[in-house]
Amino acid sequence: MRVRIPFGRQKLIGIIIEETQTTDVPQEKLKTVSAILDSKNLLSVDLLKLLLWAARYYVHPLGEVIQTALPVYLRNNDDATPSLPEYWCINHTQPLTTDEAQQALKRAPKQQQVYQLLCDADLNNENKGLDTETLNAITDNWRPAIKALLEKQLIVSAVKPAVLISENTQANTIKLSREQSEAIASIESHPHQHAIHVLNGVTGSGKTEVYLALCESILAKNEQVLVLVPEIGLTPQLTQRFLEHLNTTIVVLHSAMNDRQRYAAWHAAANNQAQLVIGTRSSIFTPLPQLGLIIIDEEHDGSYKQQDGFRYNARDLAILRAKNNNIPIMLGSATPSLETLNNINEQRYEVHYLRQRANKKQLPKIQLINLCNQKLHEGMAETLLAKIKHHLEQQGQVLLFINRRGFAPLLMCHDCGWTTNCLRCDAHMTYHKRRHQLHCHHCGSQRAAPDQCEACGSTNILAIGAGTERIEQYLQSYFPDTQVSRIDRDTTRNKGSLEEKLEKAHSGESGILVGTQMLAKGHDFPNITLVCVLDTDQALFSADFRAAEHLAQLITQVSGRAGRAEKAGEVLIQTHHPEHPLIQTLLHQGYQSFADAALQERRAAGLPPVRHLVMLRCESVEINAAQTFLHQAVETAHNIEIKDIDLFGPLPAPMERRAGRYRYQLMLQSDHRKSLHQFLNWWVPQLQQLSSARKVRWSIDVDPYDTY
Ligand code: ADP
Ligand code: ZN
Ligand code: ZN
Repeated sequence: MRVRIPFGRQKLIGIIIEETQTTDVPQEKLKTVSAILDSKNLLSVDLLKLLLWAARYYVHPLGEVIQTALPVYLRNNDDATPSLPEYWCINHTQPLTTDEAQQALKRAPKQQQVYQLLCDADLNNENKGLDTETLNAITDNWRPAIKALLEKQLIVSAVKPAVLISENTQANTIKLSREQSEAIASIESHPHQHAIHVLNGVTGSGKTEVYLALCESILAKNEQVLVLVPEIGLTPQLTQRFLEHLNTTIVVLHSAMNDRQRYAAWHAAANNQAQLVIGTRSSIFTPLPQLGLIIIDEEHDGSYKQQDGFRYNARDLAILRAKNNNIPIMLGSATPSLETLNNINEQRYEVHYLRQRANKKQLPKIQLINLCNQKLHEGMAETLLAKIKHHLEQQGQVLLFINRRGFAPLLMCHDCGWTTNCLRCDAHMTYHKRRHQLHCHHCGSQRAAPDQCEACGSTNILAIGAGTERIEQYLQSYFPDTQVSRIDRDTTRNKGSLEEKLEKAHSGESGILVGTQMLAKGHDFPNITLVCVLDTDQALFSADFRAAEHLAQLITQVSGRAGRAEKAGEVLIQTHHPEHPLIQTLLHQGYQSFADAALQERRAAGLPPVRHLVMLRCESVEINAAQTFLHQAVETAHNIEIKDIDLFGPLPAPMERRAGRYRYQLMLQSDHRKSLHQFLNWWVPQLQQLSSARKVRWSIDVDPYDTY
């Protein structure tokens, strides 16, 4: 529960996590709580236990951890438990028919009118009711009528628009494949409630159907299900499948909701008014009193890891929550993370394979295009363009993937070599042509694009390299009769624009899709026959230890978009390094073999998941402050004997300066998590005491996603 407490001259919000009868604090130092804000506990016992554990594990202040878990609406609201949006709908359990009700209201025209409005909403609107805002818009002075109708029990008030009601009463028409049925049977009959299952199924193998079947049997027991999806995986399509297939109450937590709506959804889950919750990372903190199953779709996805503040991994917390609650959890992916594969190898997780596509279609054929010495058009080889033409002629749809937004990664003066650098980062500013602007993708700085070189005044300015905008423009002029659609963060910023673009992609109206990783995952575009990956070389030589894993996952996932329906698919990958062992293993032996080799490499290099990693990151405006802090941190560490832990650094971050700050880091490695945590428990309080700590920003990242 939240309480208001006196804190110096201010009043702040605190959270009660425990009660005690005794204390060492002297009586005169104790203070009285000014007000208790909630009438009952906000977090369930299992959730509080999870948060206490997470605060220790991620070495993060408990207060902030609990804040993260609460809906923003509660966090920012220091009133008593806030009221939910008001919303009313027809009471379907009333004994009167609609006509009889109308008849009964004959002498109350206003009530009759409002009742009719609610009836209309019931017919036309999937939300089945009206809220304050809508009523205000269509009629006036409606409140007394609503009050009277509530008293007559002709209508009910409900939670809006949090709960979607799916009413599928028909039996599922899909006949599950043998592999699908076996996976479901083996999970349902598993002797251990808390087992961790991995559904390793190739793209298009029908993993979602397995999730749906499992949900069905859990929901039938009146238990709740939590489905976590990656940030960009939360497509309307996925939600739609759950809605169409199941017969239950669903809340979807997505970024387009406002704080109040999210709170309403959270509230519905916490009160068991919604049985199924679908949401991204932070949904792991939803209170679910009857939780019976957790599903993590695309478990390898990076968006499950929070990269700032409280740096938790929702997948890992979900596993712990399932264990604590003694319920099963399922991790699904076509390209499981090395962490998960390692756990399968060590028999901590149980794996179920779906090796075939649901419709028996072959996985697409992957071919390399060697870019060396080829004539390129905005980064595309002529053979690639010819292939695109061919597929379009065969009425196929083409998807081009490039992980770079904007027109060009930089502008350069052809006379003197001056480039558009960000003033605040060690990075170039990306040229966005349509808006004629430069954007730094690292700090967000923007300015008008120069028409002249800022060093020598020349107007001879070149755009170097290509991003989605440039590719789109080139292809549109090369294929004037085909609709080219660009799907990246810039073109989907407006509400509804992503849905619209996805719709056109589905219907086949857009013949060519150019996109970033927003396009890589989860989508089921039936008509795509050719997928092109334009740029792999950057990832092949990245300094980040997970780069190879990400590239392999990306290639496999993007390839999975091809040939999902009637027509067979083809995949083309452009590279200057066709002989690179990663590419060769992936192409000829598949993701699993690649992953086995990558795990060996991680073992040899002492990297996760074989060894455990913690980063101490530090940044400062003043160039030396961050380094000084880290040097002192190292000195402090040597004050005690540290066993089993290797300490590296201080080292500059791969991008040493970002947003005007200098960035350095220390890396801690160990074979034993326990040693690391024992050490951190001692070390972090010491770091807080360091004099140099006040001039810098520092953070601890346990199990970092990358070393940036
Ligand atoms: P994944 O999640 O593994 O990529 P999906 O669950 O999206 O795969 O399934 C891909 C397509 O195959 C979907 O259109 C789905 O409806 C269909 N599908 C799945 N299982 C079956 C099945 N047993 N029989 C026929 N079609 C299926
Ligand atoms: Zn110049
Ligand atoms: Zn910048």
